[in-house]
Amino acid sequence: MIESFKQLEQFAKDRDLAEVFLETDEQEHAVPRDQILEALRKRRAVMRDCVERGKSGGLSMGKLVGNEARLLNEAFQSGRTFLDPLTVKAELYALSVMGENSRMGVIVAAPTAGAGGVVPGMLLALEEERKVDPEKTVRALVVAGGIGSIIALTANISGAAGGCQNEVGVASSMGAAAVAYMMDGSPRQSIHAAALALKNTLGLVCDPVGGLVEVPCVKRNALFAVHGLTAAQLALAGVESVIPMDEIVEAMVRIGRALPRGLKETAEGGLATTVTGCEIGQRIKDEANQRRAARAAERERVAQERKSATPTKSAS
Ligand code: SF4
Repeated sequence: MIESFKQLEQFAKDRDLAEVFLETDEQEHAVPRDQILEALRKRRAVMRDCVERGKSGGLSMGKLVGNEARLLNEAFQSGRTFLDPLTVKAELYALSVMGENSRMGVIVAAPTAGAGGVVPGMLLALEEERKVDPEKTVRALVVAGGIGSIIALTANISGAAGGCQNEVGVASSMGAAAVAYMMDGSPRQSIHAAALALKNTLGLVCDPVGGLVEVPCVKRNALFAVHGLTAAQLALAGVESVIPMDEIVEAMVRIGRALPRGLKETAEGGLATTVTGCEIGQRIKDEANQRRAARAAERERVAQERKSATPTKSAS
């Protein structure tokens, strides 16, 4: 079992990183590699489909977001974007996936639903723009999953446990390693890409407005998809993280523990408690109360109807 990134680097030296993870999984869990690859082919297809659906937009459940992908797509299609197509597509695809998530559509959690736009945003944009064989994207998903599972041996991957660094930060790190792999980087470069991405998200808090995975989550996925691409680019150029990946993960856990409860998915701090955040939170609570009251009134009406329809026994 590979328990640390230090071990991974020694073990994977001069080898194909996806192959290392496939082999380890096969040995540890007795899952044949063909089965793993087939499952990930399906995940890639769901990601692709989700990106297409998400481009047309539509309001989210909480009505706070949902049309970001449509707006960016329109700007891109009409030549109103100024960044390079790879960057714009990474943002667009991340927004598409998160728009779908906010409308309760089918997405692939990578590693969580709230951070589910980062990895597909990066990988699918790169596949398209650099004409990468889709089968290599599938293998890059093996790499992303392998990196995430080593992090998960030390850290609990959820905003509630340690803030958004544990969700979007980890997603960006997984994606960065996968992108380095797709661009034929070495295992060491993938690990450094993961490290550069993760360490620059440390301290990122989880403060969803109104407790919904909408604000800041949807746009945050787009921004951190680009962050992950940048980390991969640096690592591929030979830039390395001074702090080793294992120590970064340990720091993330310590920071997560030190974060106050209000900044760990409780909607009791950060953006959720700004003036606007509070107003939105109150509106969401009021609407939920109204729906609850309407359901209770409906139950009461049905009970009264049944009661009056039940024949009463006359005394003999
Ligand atoms: S802010 Fe919280 S809910 Fe939103 S993506 Fe980050 S961890 Fe998930």
